[in-house]
Amino acid sequence: MVLAELGGRITHAIHQMRNVTIIDEKALNECLNEITRALLQSDVSFALVKEMQTNIKKIVNLQDLAAGHNKRRIIEQAIFGELCKMLDPGKPAFAPKKAKPSVVMFVGLQGAGKTTTCTKYAYYHQRKGYKPALVCADTFRAGAFDQLKQNATKAKIPFYGSYTESDPVKIAVEGVDRFEKENCDLIIVDTSGRHKQEASLFEEMRQVAEATKPDLVIFVMDSSIGQAAFDQAQAFKQSVAVGAVIITKMDGHAKGGGALSAVAATKSPVIFIGTGEHMDQFEVFDVKPFVNRLLG
Ligand code: GDP
Repeated sequence: MVLAELGGRITHAIHQMRNVTIIDEKALNECLNEITRALLQSDVSFALVKEMQTNIKKIVNLQDLAAGHNKRRIIEQAIFGELCKMLDPGKPAFAPKKAKPSVVMFVGLQGAGKTTTCTKYAYYHQRKGYKPALVCADTFRAGAFDQLKQNATKAKIPFYGSYTESDPVKIAVEGVDRFEKENCDLIIVDTSGRHKQEASLFEEMRQVAEATKPDLVIFVMDSSIGQAAFDQAQAFKQSVAVGAVIITKMDGHAKGGGALSAVAATKSPVIFIGTGEHMDQFEVFDVKPFVNRLLG
């Protein structure tokens, strides 16, 4: 289900209640069941959906609401509030500061859009007046360094990598050292991905993190991975201290549920979404406008 469709179905479920003369337990249940179905089909994890349903029922205690209360409005607000809560882990992500060196490490499965997103993230901050730099510590995928080099050159961002060195930890440390000396304030380290959540990937990630001591680890997730989102995000979180999430490929057939599940699994906020292959197809993620847009 595409994102707009999820929003449409939730809005429809709320609107359906408008046609009901008396909002009783049955009408509320029907509305919540429809929303539950829509969320599940959008790949939000079952546990999360269940929790949301329970919370809304707690907030909307029909028996305690006097006749004068606008029950529809209270239900609508509860749904809005719960969706926002699902997307907001309650603490903001680390924000790099200008003129003070920060290291930001990117992790994710191969093909998630990590390398593309590193450049988008660097380019975004460059336009805001930062001095970013890119380090390619992906020694696993052939062509990874060339791809990063090409992107970085296009965006006029300094980069570091090696065609011969096979130790990602060594490259990461050398790159970070070099750009710290060059007074870059945002040093972005791209790491290897794998097709699956393999132990070797997680071990490599841990080593790079230990050696470079990143201020922030960003988990990059493809929005089209479906119900696997929660487990995948959780597996990364268990290996490195993920502090933020970027969801890619929100153009096309993107599902909204992955974002909700990734936040729940990593207890970290979504900070940007990728909406295309180009450098500037990248949007800041804000919870309330996103949910507002979702609900039309
Ligand atoms: P990595 O293996 O995780 O480093 O993934 P890449 O950065 O190489 O991206 C894999 C593919 O996804 C490339 O073809 C990218 O152009 C594409 N891609 C990345 N982000 C987006 C996005 O937000 N939207 C779309 N449509 N494609 C994207």
